[in-house]
Amino acid sequence: MICTNICTNLEHIRSTLRETAQRCGRDPQQVKLIAVSKRMPATMVTEAHQCGQTLFGENYLQEAEGKIRQLPPALHWHFIGHLQSNKARSAAELFQMIETVDRLKIAQVLNRHAGLLEKKLDVLVQVNVGREPQKSGVLPENAYDLLQALQALTNLRVRGLMTIPPYRPEPEASRSWFQALKQLSRELAGKNCFYDNTAVELSMGMSGNFQVAVEEGATLVRVGTAIFGRRPEY
Ligand SMILES: *Cc1c(COP(=O)(O)O)cnc(C)c1O
Repeated sequence: MICTNICTNLEHIRSTLRETAQRCGRDPQQVKLIAVSKRMPATMVTEAHQCGQTLFGENYLQEAEGKIRQLPPALHWHFIGHLQSNKARSAAELFQMIETVDRLKIAQVLNRHAGLLEKKLDVLVQVNVGREPQKSGVLPENAYDLLQALQALTNLRVRGLMTIPPYRPEPEASRSWFQALKQLSRELAGKNCFYDNTAVELSMGMSGNFQVAVEEGATLVRVGTAIFGRRPEY
């Protein structure tokens, strides 16, 4: 039996998000909390849902599929893991947003499946701000070309950018990466690269640094451990 205090954790994070947004003059409504439920059982998702959480994030398609199909359709899901072409069909079907588009090929496959499903699929472009070789994401200098190419894919709606900066234990150490993503989004919005250039989404910040991310303009924060506790190791 794992002891959890999912509701307490959620309430704490929500109030922190609200206070942080207000402190820097932002509308708290413009910061959405994604509860990252990867490696956590559906029962814990249900518990979070009972505490008012409707937006969830998953990294692994197969695992997510099992959970999403058994949970109420009222839940919203964002895909935040690395996506392979052979999984794009289920991803387009099950998720409201794919946050990790980082190459034209995967976008084309998603676009085709969204078309077959007769839906418009919201996506974010993942940017490798820290230029880490082992990480997914387009390099900042290549983001413009990718976004230009995505404009031809009419079943996708490019809502903004997402990043996973280099891991640092101190939250302040991530600030410059969040600023870099914000700055890049400004430049790209100035060139009309997004579906709505007046409401560009920025997905950045996790359990350890979401406050800093909100200070720097995050509209989506992805929080796992601080809600559900430590994930089981595989
Ligand atoms: C696991 C994960 C998170 C959540 O991380 P925590 O530190 O547990 O909050 C956020 N974003 C991505 C892309 C992840 O893979």
